[in-house]
Amino acid sequence: MLDPDRKPLKAARKARCPICRKPAVAAHKPFCSERCRQVDLNRWLGEQYRIPTDEPGAPDDEEGGGRW
Ligand SMILES: [Zn+2]
Repeated sequence: MLDPDRKPLKAARKARCPICRKPAVAAHKPFCSERCRQVDLNRWLGEQYRIPTDEPGAPDDEEGGGRW
């Protein structure tokens, strides 16, 4: 009574954004948007998350290394 077709594969066809878990968009694969792409890029660069959002007044906008 095996039904391989019913088994949900882990690697689904629709990729998900590793940043926010939203369905990825082909234009920004494997991310959902340019923003998340930048987030991931910054992550790889070893920087803190610098999300270019339009959020007014980001609290952790430290420039100069972040060392005390
Ligand atoms: Zn995303």
